Amino acid sequence: MPYPLAPTLSPSRVSAFTDCALAYRFANLDRLPEPSSPAAVKGTLVHAALEALFTYEPAQRSHEVATACLEHAADQLRDDAELVELGLDEEGFATFVADAHRLLGKYFEMEDPREVNAVGLELWVEAEVAGVNLRGIIDRLDYLPDGTFRVVDYKTGRSPSERYEKSKLLGVDTYALLLEHVIGVRPSSVRLLYLGDGTSLTCRPSQQNTRFVEMKVGAVWQSIQRLNATDSFKPNPGKLCDWCSFQAWCPSFGGNPDEARALGETLRLERRAAKEAAGTIADLDQPLPFADTGS
Ligand code: SF4
Repeated sequence: MPYPLAPTLSPSRVSAFTDCALAYRFANLDRLPEPSSPAAVKGTLVHAALEALFTYEPAQRSHEVATACLEHAADQLRDDAELVELGLDEEGFATFVADAHRLLGKYFEMEDPREVNAVGLELWVEAEVAGVNLRGIIDRLDYLPDGTFRVVDYKTGRSPSERYEKSKLLGVDTYALLLEHVIGVRPSSVRLLYLGDGTSLTCRPSQQNTRFVEMKVGAVWQSIQRLNATDSFKPNPGKLCDWCSFQAWCPSFGGNPDEARALGETLRLERRAAKEAAGTIADLDQPLPFADTGS
């Protein structure tokens, strides 16, 4: 039986579906939980610190202030379920925060935040594109001296190899397309700051790029609907399997996808029971509209 589908996509979901349709199904339709990863939680922490830094007046955005922002964000994060799941002891947490400070240091090697005119932080953007609701969060939107806009995306990992760069650029063009729909102008540039190794990548999205993304989003949405109607989400084994949380249910690793479906249904009923108990039943059984943004 087909899963209920919400007509929504994000840049990271487009990319996830393109990488492996079956993993997409496990994560978004069966809604199987994925273990939290130190890298993802660290990313959340550094993003929070940088967001807080840019709420200060430009002249106040020193490294010392950023450090205080990060310490504050780390304190706030202590009770977060994803951090707790990592099971860090005091020493492990200190190492974790120290590494976040290292990433923050890399940020200051790449740009001077006092010279940035940030007009949007953690900006939610959403538009109807090719029959689907496309959504994403822009880490930072800058207004440049020449009267144009620049999208800035913080990446807490290292810059991708040439082989994977193309798929990253698709995400870049997707943010450009979204912004074009929301504010009516295409950003003049999108800058990716790779805090892991202190390198940056600046792209200048063209109309041709954004039209390509529009077609790609439409094609992905059509494919998702078709595979869902015919129950034919297939595995796509490759390098990404090394990091996949769903190997236990993947036929490429001897697993059975039907068991994932059964588990997904059990978890859905548990969520329903928990919400009934809490009196927050309103959005029950809704397909997951949108989860992550791929920062
Ligand atoms: S293990 Fe590989 S092929 Fe299987 S679902 Fe995960 S990414 Fe896809």
